Amino acid sequence: LFSAVELAPRDPILGLNDAFNADARPSKVNLGVGVYTNDAGRIPLLRAVSEAEKARVAAATPRGYLPIEGIAAYDQAVQSMLFGNDSALIKAHRIVTVQALGGTGALKIGADFLKRLNPSAQVAISDPSWENHRALFEGAGFAVVNYPYYESATHGVAFDALIAAFESYARGTIVVLHACCHNPTGVDLTTEQWRKVVEVVAARGLVPFLDIAYQGFGDGIDADAAAVRLFADAGVSAFVSSSFSKSFSLYGERVGALSIVTQSADESKHVLSQLKRVIRTNYSTPPTHGGMIVSAILNDSALRAMWEEELGEMRTRIRTMRTSLVEKLRAAGARRDFGFVSAQRGMFSYSGLSAQQVDRLREEFGIYAVGTGRICVAALNTRNIDAVAAAIAAVID
Ligand code: PMP
Repeated sequence: LFSAVELAPRDPILGLNDAFNADARPSKVNLGVGVYTNDAGRIPLLRAVSEAEKARVAAATPRGYLPIEGIAAYDQAVQSMLFGNDSALIKAHRIVTVQALGGTGALKIGADFLKRLNPSAQVAISDPSWENHRALFEGAGFAVVNYPYYESATHGVAFDALIAAFESYARGTIVVLHACCHNPTGVDLTTEQWRKVVEVVAARGLVPFLDIAYQGFGDGIDADAAAVRLFADAGVSAFVSSSFSKSFSLYGERVGALSIVTQSADESKHVLSQLKRVIRTNYSTPPTHGGMIVSAILNDSALRAMWEEELGEMRTRIRTMRTSLVEKLRAAGARRDFGFVSAQRGMFSYSGLSAQQVDRLREEFGIYAVGTGRICVAALNTRNIDAVAAAIAAVID
């Protein structure tokens, strides 16, 4: 049965982790990862999460099945976080939200539903994008193309080319957009640019699929949802996949959600019924623990305040690491100006390092980064940043 099965290619980032683990140098640093670590270099267990978990264990609740669409209070809290407490769309029942297995699960449910709706549609993702976007939409049966996004010469967005690409797409083309904290580049659109994107998407009849995996890591919970709200204000039918892996530091619990903006309460009913079919035939119902914890935090004012404070600490720490890296590179004599790193948002930075320079960082200094030059700024801390800055300065000149 399995004699003809080919070996699938290794995930390049997991391969990097294996090499890092096998490295015996005590000074080694892993900047290839996709998780937030605190100043002590560890994945934090947030205080708000810990409190909510204690209460949940103390309550000794039975573990029955959740509804297919997940916990109602969770789904409602997700909607408020994305669209704002006073959203007219929420009041008009024009948003459908289902709990999902992380952001990946949300993308998968959305992709499967879209495939049933419009099987011949093309999907466009940014160049570059999170590496799973292409695989996920291709896996759901779509042809996937790239739209221009990152421009290395300016460390910015190739915006005119992006708009030209969107204007060339057929109606119904699904455009996957990073709502904030673009992975892997850290380079986001400005509000003005978002306005133009919304205008073109609406005029051309494209289907926006906003992926928001870092809400609260950029400029704040509301500020990071600006793009989602611009699409909502324009009344465009849209998909939004949320991940709480980073913002609640709950990676392994698989907490996320898919929200869909419809044109009417009646459409919402129909859409929800179809989403439930997709979920039912994939994994039936979502898991309880992570959703219960996030729901408890978002729906309790004291826990929510505690979480927002911790989220703010993570956001501030990342931004401090960005400015600190820029300063330390300058102090280490780097002739190149790395100021663009402080303007980037979220966990990642396209550092501008070449594949060769990344190899030298690994071989000579035990500093691991992705071959594209992507570094995880959230893996920098006060104990490793001097060594990282000195090593980067050494390989670039
Ligand atoms: N989208 C983007 C842009 C991401 O960076 C990630 C996670 N790295 C995800 C989705 C998936 O999130 P999750 O781990 O919650 O599945």
